[in-house]
Amino acid sequence: MSAVLVVNSGSSSIKYQVIHAESGERLADGLVERIGESSQGRIEHRAEKRVERELAIPDHTVGFAEMVAAFAEAGAPIESLDISAVGHRVVHGGSEFIAPTLIDDRVAERILALAELAPLHNPGHHAAIVAARATFPELPHIAVFDTAFHQSMPESAYTYAIAPEVAAKHGVRRYGFHGISHAVVSRRAAEHLGKPVESLKQIVLHLGNGASMCAIDGGESVDTSMGLTPLEGLVMGTRSGDIDPGVIFHLLRRGETVDSIDTLLNKRSGFLGFTGSNDFRDVREAAARGDHDAKLAIDVYVHRARHYLGAYLAVLRGADTIVFTAGLGENAPDLRARVCAGFEWCGIHIDPELNEAPDRGARVISTADSTVTVLVVPTDEETEIARQTIATV
Ligand code: AMP
Repeated sequence: MSAVLVVNSGSSSIKYQVIHAESGERLADGLVERIGESSQGRIEHRAEKRVERELAIPDHTVGFAEMVAAFAEAGAPIESLDISAVGHRVVHGGSEFIAPTLIDDRVAERILALAELAPLHNPGHHAAIVAARATFPELPHIAVFDTAFHQSMPESAYTYAIAPEVAAKHGVRRYGFHGISHAVVSRRAAEHLGKPVESLKQIVLHLGNGASMCAIDGGESVDTSMGLTPLEGLVMGTRSGDIDPGVIFHLLRRGETVDSIDTLLNKRSGFLGFTGSNDFRDVREAAARGDHDAKLAIDVYVHRARHYLGAYLAVLRGADTIVFTAGLGENAPDLRARVCAGFEWCGIHIDPELNEAPDRGARVISTADSTVTVLVVPTDEETEIARQTIATV
């Protein structure tokens, strides 16, 4: 009975989990952080025993060596866990990676080349992939892409209305993200209802610190709110989401720089920009105290999400399910109720008691006579990466 090592890495961190291939049980997990930074690095490993340590971690190779040491120190050496593959989460797979892919030297190089489209993510993935392949040379390494699920979008949905030769030259099109989450959540919603995923039209709202929505027809993504980068679409913890591109030219002409606008829209907007906190719980508390900007932040958030909900009902020509997931989607019943309110005319009826119930697992929150079934389904990207890794091996 084998296990998968799931790796979710950034430029300065490695998050990992060991997941049992058949049962989905987590055997261990941990985090190596502050890799290559001037301050001390840190590793935290959780298995039956917990290990925590601060030390210099100059690069990802040392990060993986420390991770292996932490397994041993916790009393369950990594060799004892019968790991049969390593699954790497990769944010951007461009147009060329439409499925999980066995990593060889060429694939690793292509992932690095795609840093052009994902400068904040793919270089860190590449560094971790090189280090992990050197640490575990005998294991197959699989790249699981956040963009792959959306490669089924029709041309009309992924094309920006700019000259095709310019778009082609620079790889400018909509790719979409959170695909691993949209895939697992839509499949689990179907399982919960006892229906084949192929028979359902679904709208998934992944509302976390990053947020995106996806229209899914018969298990395939046909539209999603994120675009060339994870900036387009919904309001997020620190990202603006949709904005008139003219705003960028206006700010440039007024003396801002490309980098300052990039930082503004990606890191200093959304809930954080309105209120000083990217956490919805803080925003909600401030709104309850009567803070105008906090109330406005939630109003804009809800307005945008409803905009996309209406759009995807049109794209799909009606829906069988609406599925909420991720931090806010799973834990903010007030937000769920506001996003769905006023859609009764197209058959969406939330049951207030079911919506407010403090349950944790997959559950229905619409009334028995609601034409559209509304669900909350916890996302589980790591288990999905493990599943896709095993399926590919
Ligand atoms: P995620 O990126 O999916 O981990 O989501 C993180 C975000 O979910 C946090 O920044 C909060 O805004 C939100 N969140 C987490 N827990 C709760 C909660 N109990 N109630 C409301 N919002 C929550």
